[in-house]
Amino acid sequence: MTFLRDLLGIPGASSDPAALAAAARDRSGADPDGLPLAVVRAEDIDGVRETLRLAHAHHVPVVPRGAGTGLAGGALAGTGAVVLDVSAMDRIVEIDPVDELAVVEPGVLTATLDAAAAEHGLRYAPDPASAAISTIGGNIATNAGGMRCVKYGVTREAVLGLDVVLADGTLVSTGRRTVKGVSGLDLTALFVGSEGTLGVIVGASLRLRALPERTLTAAAGYDDVASAARACGDLARARRDPAMLELLDGLTLDVIDRAQGTDHGRRSRALVIAQADGPAADAEIAAIAEVLGKEASWVEQGVDAASSDALLAARRLALPSIERFGKALIEDICVPRSRLADAFAAVEEIAAEHRVAIYSFAHAGDGNLHPIIGYSGEARPAGVQRAADAIFRLALDLGGTVTGEHGVGLLKRDWLAREVGPDVLGLHASVKAALDPRGILNPGKAL
Ligand SMILES: Cc1cc2nc3c(=O)[nH]c(=O)nc-3n(C[C@H](O)[C@H](O)[C@H](O)COP(=O)(O)OP(=O)(O)OC[C@H]3O[C@@H](n4cnc5c(N)ncnc54)[C@H](O)[C@@H]3O)c2cc1C
Repeated sequence: MTFLRDLLGIPGASSDPAALAAAARDRSGADPDGLPLAVVRAEDIDGVRETLRLAHAHHVPVVPRGAGTGLAGGALAGTGAVVLDVSAMDRIVEIDPVDELAVVEPGVLTATLDAAAAEHGLRYAPDPASAAISTIGGNIATNAGGMRCVKYGVTREAVLGLDVVLADGTLVSTGRRTVKGVSGLDLTALFVGSEGTLGVIVGASLRLRALPERTLTAAAGYDDVASAARACGDLARARRDPAMLELLDGLTLDVIDRAQGTDHGRRSRALVIAQADGPAADAEIAAIAEVLGKEASWVEQGVDAASSDALLAARRLALPSIERFGKALIEDICVPRSRLADAFAAVEEIAAEHRVAIYSFAHAGDGNLHPIIGYSGEARPAGVQRAADAIFRLALDLGGTVTGEHGVGLLKRDWLAREVGPDVLGLHASVKAALDPRGILNPGKAL
């Protein structure tokens, strides 16, 4: 087969079964329908262009891949596909402290960029919990979010310009290096969140922010999750400006206690953790603590970095604690912030109806709820998927979305259709056809 022979001539290309098996999966836990044809671990833009030129000429599907940490099945690659892994293109090309800008290759790990920016008193603000293991390219392709996004915005807000290789191998540059700029259509935004279906991101100009000299934390315990959710709404009404606002329910506190030997669940049935940063952090965190304290059974404030970190530990340990006792289907709905209490209550009802354990925590400031459905055994029980479907329906009923930050991938395509409706789905198809007329880029995903 000339295609495969030519492809395997590209530096970094392989058809070794172990390499194929490793490149076929992501962290969604879903199974691909077989092994891909080949994997190209591209070393540079030329390798990406050549892979796409060949695949385009031969109508072969290509699955772009960063670190494979995606939770929606976007990087799953099955029979007949070529995996185009760009994680080896991992240079930070430039950090400009005056323009507050970084130019990077797509395989740079998010935390690596953040650490490099810190040397200049700057930071890369979007902070998915996977920052230490996921790539900037993957973050852009999924429009990743994180805990700081309540104040600094999601990945989209940090992307100024992109270098993208299109399906036929053409290299284009979109956007700009400047913070402002409105010339032409915003194609940069179009590629952000497109989950590898419109082009392969091979470079990015990213906005950096000043690293706050002070970040302070407050935590408050509540008798029930409804009071905690109401307190988060009160913060919005009081026009406070948290740099982080997280909420954990009682079941999540219990599982953290079981895993870590702590006593969060005995102290309260819901926990809110907030941060304030910048020069006014002391005044802001005091004001936040006052609002949170109105309905709380207790409130604590971190006085320095160490005590602030200690207050945040419960949130950081939530997912690892759940995964210590079994498997987890990690869901990711987003509802209007005013409906957060309704969402928590309805998720509890869904858990009871489908007889599954659902641990819920939220980026409360964004209305982004992660109901984590726990289960044991190899196969995912039918009740788990039924509960997940009920959660997606709930998100739409509350005026929200089926994915706040993890993406549609393979697993939520049916629900995307219900969320956006046939007209918008048709627009998606038109955009896809314009950029990828042969439909080779990540077919069957996202759109
Ligand atoms: C423990 C854990 C915690 C997580 N926490 C968060 C969180 O807090 N917030 C959050 O948003 N997500 C989170 N995630 C999900 C995941 O880390 C993100 O979706 C991340 O952005 C994926 O990056 P990646 O490099 O692993 O991409 P991959 O998984 O390799 O790919 C994800 C999608 O992007 C496409 N893609 C990847 N690179 C490119 C590229 N260069 N060009 C075009 N398309 C590309 C792929 O085709 C696929 O559709 C978490 C995952 C884990 C395992």
